[in-house]
Formats: sequence, C-alpha cells, structure tokens
Amino acid sequence: MATTEREPLLVVLSGPGGVGKGTLAKELVDQDEDLVLSRSWTTRPRRNDENLEAYKFVSLEEFLRHRENNGFIEWNEFLGEFYGTPVPDDLISQDILLEIDVAGGRQILEKYSETVLIFVDTPDVSEQRRRLVERGDNAMQIEQRIEEGDRERKDAESLGYFKVVNNNLSQAVEKIQEIIDNERTS
Ligand code: 5GP
Repeated sequence: MATTEREPLLVVLSGPGGVGKGTLAKELVDQDEDLVLSRSWTTRPRRNDENLEAYKFVSLEEFLRHRENNGFIEWNEFLGEFYGTPVPDDLISQDILLEIDVAGGRQILEKYSETVLIFVDTPDVSEQRRRLVERGDNAMQIEQRIEEGDRERKDAESLGYFKVVNNNLSQAVEKIQEIIDNERTS
C-alpha cells in the first residue's frame, strides 16, 4: 500500500554501538513495504566485512562540501568521524527509517515534530561488549562506544524516545513494527 494520503513518517532508530541496529533496520524495511531506509554519508572508513551499502563512504572534503551545499537534513560528529542524513528525494512517498545517533534524532525532532524516536538498547553492557569485539572494534573504540551509549541513553530518555531492548531479534522487530503501525494510525 502506498502512503500517498498522508505526510511520510520519519522514524529514527538510535542506540549504542553493537546493539544490532543495522540488522533490525534491515529486517524492518524488508518486511514493511511502506518503509525505506535512508542511507547516511560517513567519513568513517568501512569495516572489513561491512556491507558496501551500509553507508555512502566519502572523504572529509566531500562530506564538508555537501554540508556547505545544505545537502544534509542533520549531521553529527561521532568519535571523530562525520555522519549525515542526506536530504531525501522529493519523490519519496514512503515512510523513512533513519538509523542515526541521538544527537541526530534531536535535530530531526526539532525540524519535524511528528518524528517517531526509538532507542534500541542492549540487554546488558557485557552483551554489547561481546558484539563490539565480534565485529572487530579495537579496545579503545569499545570503551568509547560504551561511554557514548551511556550518554545517549540519558539523552534519549529526556527526548521521550520509545525504548526497545534487543534481547531477541524477532521480538525486537515486532515491538518496533508495533510502534510504527500505531503512529501511522494515530
Ligand atoms: P557506526 O560507526 O557504528 O556505524 O555509527 C556510529 C553512530 O553514528 C551510530 O550511533 C549510528 O547510528 C550513527 N549514525 C549513522 N549514520 C548517521 C547519520 O546520518 N547521522 C547521525 N547523526 N548519526 C548517524
């Protein structure tokens, strides 16, 4: 079903590194034909086994030029690298899923007050650490991401994010889908 009768919904998915946001986002857009994933730009180098499509990987110069030209609806510097959401294509009539950090979520909310904010959290820090090790982050990156996660958790609470704990992938997907469906009908 195309969502032509109403404004597209913006859904922001945030959460600490290693929580599985990428997998959740993919599952959501695969099962929900009215939802498309926004592809962010980043200056961060691609991780070894990271999908080429995960980001548009660009140089710092390219990122800054695009920012100068008002090419992002929001952007942030996260642990020394830039990340930004490109201005969506005018023709988009579907709902858009943004997998971005809480600082980005705040900027989107300021521009579009109807934004749906969802914070995905890990069951516990040891599980988060295990996932970060597994994907190849080094010891310093792991500590930084855990600390950043703590800050984000607090900010998310004060911004009124919905919170979903990713204990089990299919249950987390189901909960997020429920939140999105409720927002579509409210
Ligand atoms: P990672 O390096 O783990 O892929 O991403 C680091 C953080 O940047 C994550 O919290 C991720 O959600 C966030 N992020 C990814 N894309 C964007 C974006 O376009 N804008 C903002 N503000 N954050 C982003």
